[in-house]
Amino acid sequence: MNLLEKALEYIFLPSCGVCGKLGEGYLCEKCGKILEKYAICHNDYKNIDVNNIKSINSDIDRLHIFQYKELIRKLIIQYKFNNKSYLYKTFCEFIVKNKKAFDFIKSYDIIIPVPMHNKKKALRGYNQSELIAKELAKKAEIEIFTDVLKKVKNNKVQSSLNKEDRKNNVKDVYKLINKEKIYNKKVLIFDDIYTTGATIEACKKEILKANVKQFGILTLAKD
Ligand SMILES: [Zn+2]
Repeated sequence: MNLLEKALEYIFLPSCGVCGKLGEGYLCEKCGKILEKYAICHNDYKNIDVNNIKSINSDIDRLHIFQYKELIRKLIIQYKFNNKSYLYKTFCEFIVKNKKAFDFIKSYDIIIPVPMHNKKKALRGYNQSELIAKELAKKAEIEIFTDVLKKVKNNKVQSSLNKEDRKNNVKDVYKLINKEKIYNKKVLIFDDIYTTGATIEACKKEILKANVKQFGILTLAKD
């Protein structure tokens, strides 16, 4: 968020990131319902004890909020490439109101956003995954660590590659540092888009070196 946007936020009420409507927070009721159509993470697992999630089904350690298509695709592209960094508030408002997603997040100790290379972050001005993870950590009252996983190579953009090349492209790109900070903790990794899973797998490989208690995956969208 730049200075002007910050100033505007103080002067005016927050507006809906999708339609611009004022007075209903960062996501208005109508747009919330529209986004719900793209949600693949529904509020429908009431009988699952989140504290025992791992023993029930290991698949539940993986949660994707939206399907990456149409409006969601458009919003994420705007968020990442059109300098609409404020959209993180809109995405987070949706996630926090989704009981399944929010309970899932709260069942972890730590959230780690997939890191961006320093050069790329400087160019964009923000790490889109970090903004969302920071807000989610605040709301769920869990910790966020951005100094545990580091991106040590400025590799090619994954979306420009095929499945096999994506795997090679992320090889030795992420490095675990300060591993004692996550030892024996429940660690959730967060990324914006899940496509082949190559990025997440590369991060997972590093994080598991720290002997964590539990490892989970959260992504904003699944392609
Ligand atoms: Zn709206």
